Parts: sequence; structure tokens; C-alpha cells
Amino acid sequence: MARYTEAVCRYCRRDNTKLFLKGERCYTDKCAIERRGYPPGQHGHLRRKFSDYGTQLREKQKVKRIYGVLEKQFRIYFQTAFRKKGITGENLLFLLESRLDNVVYRLGLASSRAEARQLVRHRHFMVNGRVVNIPSYQVRPGDRIEVREKSRKMARIAEALETVDRRSVPSWLELDKDHFLGHAKSSPTREDISMNIDEDLIVAFYTR
Ligand code: SF4
Repeated sequence: MARYTEAVCRYCRRDNTKLFLKGERCYTDKCAIERRGYPPGQHGHLRRKFSDYGTQLREKQKVKRIYGVLEKQFRIYFQTAFRKKGITGENLLFLLESRLDNVVYRLGLASSRAEARQLVRHRHFMVNGRVVNIPSYQVRPGDRIEVREKSRKMARIAEALETVDRRSVPSWLELDKDHFLGHAKSSPTREDISMNIDEDLIVAFYTR
């Protein structure tokens, strides 16, 4: 499976925003944005002014990195969002937000989306009683997401659950911490996506 392999804090520094790609570290003063809040590279300190195209491109790259999706798949998400009824930009975010790896992260069963993706791939989760190892699986209202019995003692999952209060579970999901169980009560809404994202810029990028 293709994935990002660069030092991910660079992405946050480039966009001068926290993308929360490294789990617990992102909440500490070890976060690179806290320590070096300017773009990486020799000329990082210099102020840069982006064109409209540059601003749209940066927003698209930012959202791709938040959700850990590569270009080809992201474009497919956009095309699907475009064909759906409703507002294309919001549709795009809802498709990304409904990915199983994101849901596992948002429920607090993993400390980052990258970790959630790996745990899903390694078959630690069930959806509606069946093992699902596809990170892009679309979670639907009514779905029940749970950690497999034999995986419940895993330190990574237990540690993530310990800190779930810090991140707060979005209103469209419900967590039963004691039973390692999550439930999708509805579809996500725009208010559930708390990251600073301007989806209109992404729509403008792909429709220019
Ligand atoms: Fe981004 Fe987290 Fe690295 Fe901070 S620690 S720069 S939020 S990935």
C-alpha cells in the first residue's frame, strides 16, 4: 500500500498548521510547530505569497495529508463527491471522514490516522461483526465498529483510549470505552470536522 514516508512534521510546518499526524507528540511541546513554526528549508523564514492556484494547491495537499490519502485516490474521492447531490466540497470531506481508518482514530481507538490505518490493515477491527482490513472502507450510519477480542489487550489501543478525552469523539460517533466499541449514529456533518479546512479552495483547484 502506498503511503507517505517523509518526515511528516515538515507537512505541518509547510502549511503552518497542526495536522496532527504523529499522535500524542502533537499535543506536547515537542511538536515541531511549537518549536519551529516556520516552513522547512533554507528559505523557510522568508515570507511567501501564494497565487490563487498556489493557495488552492496547498489546501488540497493539506487535506490529503490530514487523511493520509494519495493523489490518485483523492481525485477519485473528488469525482465521487462531484457526482453526488449536495455541496461538492462538503461531500468530499464526508467521504474522507467516513473512512474506517479515520473513524477508528476519531473514536480514540488509535492515536493517529496513520496508526489507525496500520491497525485496520492488521485485522484488529470488525465492522458489524466481520473483520474489515480495508482502511478506505466507508462507514455508514448504524455501523458498529469494534476491536477484536484478541486485540483488546494491545498497548497501542489501550494508550490511545486513555487519551481519547483530549480529542473528544465527534457527535456522529459514539464510543463505549469499556467494550472497545464504536457506533456510527449518523453521517458526519460539517460541524463535526473541526480542522481548519477551506474545502471551496479544493473544489476550485479541481474545477479550474
Ligand atoms: Fe504536526 Fe504533530 Fe509534528 Fe506537530 S508533532 S508538527 S502537529 S505532526
